[in-house]
Amino acid sequence: MYLSVVVPVYNERDNLPLLYQAVVDALKPIEKPWELILVDDGSRDDSLPVLESLADSDPQRVRVIALRRNFGQTAAIAAGIDHATGAVVVLMDADLQNDPQDIPMMLEKLEQGYDVISGWRKNRQDTFITRTLPSNLANWLISKTTGVKLHDYGCTLKAYRREVITGFRLYGEMHRFIPVFANSVGARILEVPVNHHPRKFGKAKYGLERTFKVVLDLFTVQFLSRYANKPIYLFGGTGSVLILVSGLVLFYLFIRRIFFDVSVMNSPLFQISTMVAILGFQSILMGLIAELLARTYHESQGKPTYTVRKKINFTEDDHS
Ligand code: UDP
Ligand code: MG
Repeated sequence: MYLSVVVPVYNERDNLPLLYQAVVDALKPIEKPWELILVDDGSRDDSLPVLESLADSDPQRVRVIALRRNFGQTAAIAAGIDHATGAVVVLMDADLQNDPQDIPMMLEKLEQGYDVISGWRKNRQDTFITRTLPSNLANWLISKTTGVKLHDYGCTLKAYRREVITGFRLYGEMHRFIPVFANSVGARILEVPVNHHPRKFGKAKYGLERTFKVVLDLFTVQFLSRYANKPIYLFGGTGSVLILVSGLVLFYLFIRRIFFDVSVMNSPLFQISTMVAILGFQSILMGLIAELLARTYHESQGKPTYTVRKKINFTEDDHS
Protein backbone atom coordinates (compact mmCIF):
# COMPACT_ATOMS: atom_id res chain seq x y z
CA MET A 1 0.00 0.00 0.00
CA TYR A 2 1.39 3.39 -0.98
CA LEU A 3 -0.97 5.86 0.66
CA SER A 4 -3.48 5.86 3.53
CA VAL A 5 -5.73 8.90 3.83
CA VAL A 6 -7.06 9.02 7.41
CA VAL A 7 -10.15 11.08 8.21
CA PRO A 8 -11.85 11.45 11.62
CA VAL A 9 -15.62 11.77 11.32
CA TYR A 10 -18.01 13.19 13.89
CA ASN A 11 -21.50 14.18 12.72
CA GLU A 12 -20.49 14.87 9.12
CA ARG A 13 -23.35 13.07 7.34
CA ASP A 14 -23.77 15.58 4.51
CA ASN A 15 -20.07 16.10 3.91
CA LEU A 16 -19.15 12.44 3.49
CA PRO A 17 -20.28 11.69 -0.10
CA LEU A 18 -18.62 14.94 -1.24
CA LEU A 19 -15.49 14.09 0.70
CA TYR A 20 -15.28 10.65 -0.86
CA GLN A 21 -15.75 12.05 -4.37
CA ALA A 22 -13.22 14.83 -3.78
CA VAL A 23 -10.60 12.34 -2.56
CA VAL A 24 -11.22 10.01 -5.52
CA ASP A 25 -10.92 12.94 -7.95
CA ALA A 26 -7.81 14.34 -6.32
CA LEU A 27 -6.04 10.97 -6.26
CA LYS A 28 -6.79 10.12 -9.94
CA PRO A 29 -3.24 11.07 -11.01
CA ILE A 30 -1.74 8.84 -8.30
CA GLU A 31 -1.00 5.52 -9.91
CA LYS A 32 -0.01 3.59 -6.82
CA PRO A 33 -2.61 1.90 -4.58
CA TRP A 34 -4.25 3.99 -1.85
CA GLU A 35 -6.87 3.53 0.84
CA LEU A 36 -9.26 5.93 2.51
CA ILE A 37 -9.69 5.16 6.22
CA LEU A 38 -12.76 6.86 7.69
CA VAL A 39 -12.99 6.72 11.46
CA ASP A 40 -16.45 7.29 12.86
CA ASP A 41 -15.94 8.91 16.24
CA GLY A 42 -19.29 7.95 17.73
CA SER A 43 -21.38 10.21 15.48
CA ARG A 44 -24.94 10.92 16.61
CA ASP A 45 -26.25 11.62 13.12
CA ASP A 46 -26.39 9.16 10.22
CA SER A 47 -22.68 9.39 9.45
CA LEU A 48 -22.09 5.70 10.14
CA PRO A 49 -24.74 4.37 7.71
CA VAL A 50 -23.40 6.76 5.07
CA LEU A 51 -19.87 5.49 5.71
CA GLU A 52 -21.11 1.92 5.48
CA SER A 53 -22.67 2.52 2.08
CA LEU A 54 -19.49 4.22 0.83
CA ALA A 55 -17.51 1.21 2.06
CA ASP A 56 -19.96 -1.05 0.26
CA SER A 57 -19.65 0.80 -3.02
CA ASP A 58 -15.83 0.89 -3.02
CA PRO A 59 -14.66 -2.10 -0.95
CA GLN A 60 -11.16 -1.99 -2.43
CA ARG A 61 -10.30 1.47 -1.22
CA VAL A 62 -12.71 2.60 1.49
CA ARG A 63 -12.23 1.25 5.00
CA VAL A 64 -14.34 2.22 7.98
CA ILE A 65 -13.56 2.02 11.68
CA ALA A 66 -16.44 2.72 14.05
CA LEU A 67 -15.39 3.72 17.56
CA ARG A 68 -17.61 2.73 20.49
CA ARG A 69 -18.32 6.32 21.49
CA ASN A 70 -17.08 9.84 20.88
CA PHE A 71 -13.41 9.78 21.88
CA GLY A 72 -12.42 13.06 20.23
CA GLN A 73 -10.64 13.98 17.04
CA THR A 74 -7.17 13.00 18.26
CA ALA A 75 -8.21 9.51 19.38
CA ALA A 76 -10.06 8.99 16.09
CA ILE A 77 -6.91 9.99 14.22
CA ALA A 78 -4.87 7.62 16.38
CA ALA A 79 -7.25 4.76 15.52
CA GLY A 80 -6.84 5.56 11.82
CA ILE A 81 -3.04 5.68 12.05
CA ASP A 82 -2.98 2.38 13.95
CA HIS A 83 -4.87 0.72 11.11
CA ALA A 84 -3.12 2.44 8.20
CA THR A 85 -0.95 0.26 5.97
CA GLY A 86 0.31 2.92 3.56
CA ALA A 87 3.97 3.90 3.42
CA VAL A 88 2.60 7.44 3.51
CA VAL A 89 -0.21 8.60 5.82
CA VAL A 90 -2.18 11.74 5.00
CA LEU A 91 -4.41 13.20 7.70
CA MET A 92 -7.30 15.52 6.90
CA ASP A 93 -10.70 16.68 8.17
CA ALA A 94 -14.04 15.36 6.94
CA ASP A 95 -15.64 18.74 6.37
CA LEU A 96 -13.72 19.60 3.19
CA GLN A 97 -12.22 22.69 4.81
CA ASN A 98 -9.02 20.96 3.74
CA ASP A 99 -8.72 20.44 0.01
CA PRO A 100 -7.81 16.93 -1.19
CA GLN A 101 -6.48 18.59 -4.36
CA ASP A 102 -3.44 19.58 -2.28
CA ILE A 103 -2.51 15.94 -1.61
CA PRO A 104 -0.59 15.14 -4.84
CA MET A 105 1.55 18.26 -4.33
CA MET A 106 2.31 17.17 -0.76
CA LEU A 107 3.21 13.65 -1.91
CA GLU A 108 5.63 15.15 -4.44
CA LYS A 109 7.33 17.12 -1.68
CA LEU A 110 7.64 13.94 0.42
CA GLU A 111 9.38 12.26 -2.51
CA GLN A 112 11.94 15.07 -2.42
CA GLY A 113 13.23 13.60 0.81
CA TYR A 114 11.05 14.97 3.59
CA ASP A 115 9.34 12.89 6.27
CA VAL A 116 6.56 15.32 7.17
CA ILE A 117 4.75 17.80 4.93
CA SER A 118 2.65 20.12 7.05
CA GLY A 119 -0.22 22.18 5.67
CA TRP A 120 -0.35 25.89 6.40
CA ARG A 121 -3.77 27.56 6.11
CA LYS A 122 -2.45 30.88 4.89
CA ASN A 123 -5.93 32.29 4.42
CA ARG A 124 -7.85 30.51 7.09
CA GLN A 125 -11.64 30.53 6.76
CA ASP A 126 -12.69 30.44 10.41
CA THR A 127 -14.13 33.02 12.79
CA PHE A 128 -11.32 35.42 13.58
CA ILE A 129 -11.89 36.29 17.24
CA THR A 130 -12.74 32.86 18.62
CA ARG A 131 -10.60 30.64 16.39
CA THR A 132 -7.99 32.22 14.17
CA LEU A 133 -6.63 34.80 16.64
CA PRO A 134 -6.25 32.45 19.65
CA SER A 135 -4.77 29.76 17.44
CA ASN A 136 -2.24 32.26 16.04
CA LEU A 137 -1.18 32.96 19.63
CA ALA A 138 -0.97 29.25 20.41
CA ASN A 139 1.04 28.66 17.23
CA TRP A 140 3.48 31.34 18.26
CA LEU A 141 3.87 29.81 21.73
CA ILE A 142 4.33 26.30 20.36
CA SER A 143 6.94 27.38 17.85
CA LYS A 144 8.85 29.29 20.54
CA THR A 145 8.90 26.37 22.97
CA THR A 146 9.09 23.13 20.99
CA GLY A 147 11.92 23.87 18.60
CA VAL A 148 9.76 22.89 15.62
CA LYS A 149 9.10 26.06 13.66
CA LEU A 150 5.73 25.96 11.92
CA HIS A 151 3.14 28.66 11.26
CA ASP A 152 0.13 26.40 11.61
CA TYR A 153 0.24 23.38 13.92
CA GLY A 154 -3.53 22.99 13.99
CA CYS A 155 -4.01 22.34 10.29
CA THR A 156 -5.01 18.68 10.08
CA LEU A 157 -3.92 18.31 6.47
CA LYS A 158 -0.47 16.82 6.76
CA ALA A 159 1.43 14.04 5.02
CA TYR A 160 3.76 11.74 6.92
CA ARG A 161 6.03 8.85 6.22
CA ARG A 162 4.36 6.26 8.38
CA GLU A 163 7.48 5.23 10.27
CA VAL A 164 7.92 8.69 11.83
CA ILE A 165 4.46 8.72 13.43
CA THR A 166 3.83 5.21 14.68
CA GLY A 167 4.46 4.41 18.31
CA PHE A 168 3.36 7.72 19.82
CA ARG A 169 0.47 7.88 22.23
CA LEU A 170 -1.98 10.52 21.09
CA TYR A 171 -4.64 12.01 23.38
CA GLY A 172 -6.17 15.38 24.28
CA GLU A 173 -5.38 17.81 21.47
CA MET A 174 -2.11 16.05 20.75
CA HIS A 175 -2.64 15.48 17.06
CA ARG A 176 -1.23 18.92 16.33
CA PHE A 177 1.99 17.91 18.09
CA ILE A 178 2.60 14.95 15.79
CA PRO A 179 5.25 17.00 13.93
CA VAL A 180 6.90 17.74 17.28
CA PHE A 181 6.98 14.02 18.10
CA ALA A 182 8.22 13.25 14.59
CA ASN A 183 10.93 15.86 15.05
CA SER A 184 12.04 14.09 18.22
CA VAL A 185 12.85 11.00 16.18
CA GLY A 186 14.70 13.04 13.58
CA ALA A 187 12.07 13.65 10.90
CA ARG A 188 12.70 16.30 8.24
CA ILE A 189 9.70 18.64 8.18
CA LEU A 190 8.50 21.02 5.48
CA GLU A 191 5.55 23.39 5.73
CA VAL A 192 3.60 24.22 2.56
CA PRO A 193 0.67 26.62 2.06
CA VAL A 194 -2.61 24.77 1.42
CA ASN A 195 -6.14 25.78 0.51
CA HIS A 196 -8.73 26.31 3.19
CA HIS A 197 -12.47 26.60 2.62
CA PRO A 198 -15.40 27.50 4.85
CA ARG A 199 -17.38 24.52 6.11
CA LYS A 200 -20.22 23.58 3.73
CA PHE A 201 -22.45 21.43 5.95
CA GLY A 202 -22.71 20.74 9.65
CA LYS A 203 -21.23 22.71 12.51
CA ALA A 204 -17.67 23.23 13.72
CA LYS A 205 -17.20 21.22 16.90
CA TYR A 206 -14.88 23.64 18.63
CA GLY A 207 -14.65 27.20 19.89
CA LEU A 208 -12.28 29.30 21.93
CA GLU A 209 -11.91 26.71 24.70
CA ARG A 210 -9.91 24.53 22.36
CA THR A 211 -6.91 26.85 22.41
CA PHE A 212 -6.68 26.47 26.21
CA LYS A 213 -6.60 22.69 25.85
CA VAL A 214 -3.87 23.05 23.26
CA VAL A 215 -1.74 25.17 25.61
CA LEU A 216 -2.25 22.66 28.42
CA ASP A 217 -1.14 19.85 26.14
CA LEU A 218 1.88 21.92 25.18
CA PHE A 219 2.98 21.97 28.83
CA THR A 220 2.49 18.21 29.05
CA VAL A 221 4.47 17.60 25.87
CA GLN A 222 7.31 19.84 27.02
CA PHE A 223 7.34 18.46 30.52
CA LEU A 224 7.29 14.85 29.37
CA SER A 225 10.02 15.34 26.81
CA ARG A 226 12.35 17.12 29.24
CA TYR A 227 11.66 15.69 32.67
CA ALA A 228 9.57 12.58 32.12
CA ASN A 229 12.43 10.31 33.03
CA LYS A 230 13.70 12.22 36.05
CA PRO A 231 11.29 14.86 37.36
CA ILE A 232 12.98 14.44 40.72
CA TYR A 233 16.04 16.17 39.24
CA LEU A 234 14.03 19.33 38.58
CA PHE A 235 12.05 19.45 41.81
CA GLY A 236 14.75 17.90 43.97
CA GLY A 237 17.34 20.31 42.56
CA THR A 238 15.15 23.35 43.20
CA GLY A 239 14.28 22.10 46.69
CA SER A 240 17.92 21.43 47.60
CA VAL A 241 19.00 24.92 46.49
CA LEU A 242 16.20 26.50 48.55
CA ILE A 243 17.14 24.50 51.64
CA LEU A 244 20.82 25.28 51.21
CA VAL A 245 20.29 29.04 50.84
CA SER A 246 17.91 29.30 53.77
CA GLY A 247 20.20 27.04 55.84
CA LEU A 248 23.09 29.47 55.28
CA VAL A 249 20.93 32.45 56.26
CA LEU A 250 19.74 30.69 59.42
CA PHE A 251 23.32 29.74 60.28
CA TYR A 252 24.35 33.40 59.92
CA LEU A 253 21.48 34.50 62.17
CA PHE A 254 22.37 32.00 64.88
CA ILE A 255 26.05 32.99 64.78
CA ARG A 256 24.96 36.58 65.32
CA ARG A 257 22.70 35.48 68.16
CA ILE A 258 25.42 33.55 69.96
CA PHE A 259 28.37 35.88 69.53
CA PHE A 260 26.77 39.32 69.29
CA ASP A 261 23.52 38.67 71.12
CA VAL A 262 21.34 40.00 68.27
CA SER A 263 17.79 38.75 68.58
CA VAL A 264 16.81 36.09 66.01
CA MET A 265 13.09 35.77 66.57
CA ASN A 266 12.28 39.34 65.58
CA SER A 267 14.28 39.28 62.37
CA PRO A 268 12.17 39.04 59.18
CA LEU A 269 15.11 37.20 57.65
CA PHE A 270 14.50 34.41 60.13
CA GLN A 271 10.85 34.07 59.20
CA ILE A 272 11.50 34.24 55.49
CA SER A 273 14.30 31.72 55.46
CA THR A 274 12.30 29.31 57.61
CA MET A 275 9.52 29.51 55.07
CA VAL A 276 11.91 29.04 52.18
CA ALA A 277 13.32 25.95 53.84
CA ILE A 278 9.82 24.51 54.20
CA LEU A 279 9.18 25.29 50.52
CA GLY A 280 12.37 23.43 49.70
CA PHE A 281 11.17 20.31 51.51
CA GLN A 282 7.83 20.58 49.78
CA SER A 283 9.49 20.85 46.41
CA ILE A 284 11.40 17.64 47.06
CA LEU A 285 8.16 15.91 48.06
CA MET A 286 6.55 17.17 44.86
CA GLY A 287 9.48 15.73 42.96
CA LEU A 288 8.77 12.33 44.48
CA ILE A 289 5.12 12.58 43.47
CA ALA A 290 6.07 13.69 39.95
CA GLU A 291 8.42 10.74 39.79
CA LEU A 292 5.55 8.41 40.65
CA LEU A 293 3.36 10.10 38.03
CA ALA A 294 6.05 9.82 35.39
CA ARG A 295 6.34 6.12 36.07
CA THR A 296 2.60 5.67 35.94
CA TYR A 297 2.67 7.52 32.64
CA HIS A 298 5.24 5.14 31.23
CA GLU A 299 3.41 2.10 32.53
CA SER A 300 0.15 3.27 31.02
CA GLN A 301 1.62 3.51 27.52
CA GLY A 302 0.12 0.19 26.56
CA LYS A 303 -3.47 1.22 27.16
CA PRO A 304 -5.54 2.24 24.13
CA THR A 305 -6.99 5.74 23.89
CA TYR A 306 -10.07 4.44 22.04
CA THR A 307 -12.10 1.26 21.61
CA VAL A 308 -13.41 -0.10 18.33
CA ARG A 309 -16.97 -1.30 17.80
CA LYS A 310 -16.55 -2.50 14.26
CA LYS A 311 -14.28 -2.48 11.24
CA ILE A 312 -15.34 -2.67 7.60
CA ASN A 313 -13.15 -3.75 4.66
CA PHE A 314 -10.17 -4.66 6.78
CA THR A 315 -8.64 -8.07 6.28
CA GLU A 316 -7.07 -9.71 9.31
CA ASP A 317 -3.45 -9.34 8.24
CA ASP A 318 -4.15 -5.90 6.82
CA HIS A 319 -3.15 -3.86 9.80
CA SER A 320 -0.33 -3.72 12.23
N1 UDP B 1 -14.04 15.35 14.89
C1 UDP B 1 -14.01 14.10 15.47
N2 UDP B 1 -14.39 13.97 16.79
C2 UDP B 1 -14.80 15.03 17.54
C3 UDP B 1 -14.81 16.32 16.94
C4 UDP B 1 -14.43 16.44 15.62
O1 UDP B 1 -13.64 13.12 14.84
O2 UDP B 1 -15.13 14.84 18.70
C5 UDP B 1 -13.65 15.50 13.49
C6 UDP B 1 -14.64 16.26 12.62
O3 UDP B 1 -15.62 15.41 12.09
C7 UDP B 1 -13.73 16.82 11.54
C8 UDP B 1 -12.45 17.11 12.29
O4 UDP B 1 -12.48 16.29 13.47
O5 UDP B 1 -13.45 15.87 10.53
C9 UDP B 1 -12.29 18.57 12.67
O6 UDP B 1 -13.45 19.05 13.30
P1 UDP B 1 -14.02 20.51 13.02
O7 UDP B 1 -14.14 20.72 11.55
O8 UDP B 1 -15.25 20.67 13.83
O9 UDP B 1 -12.86 21.39 13.63
P2 UDP B 1 -12.24 22.76 13.04
O10 UDP B 1 -12.15 22.64 11.55
O11 UDP B 1 -13.20 23.80 13.47
O12 UDP B 1 -10.89 22.80 13.71
MG1 MG C 1 -13.40 22.07 10.18
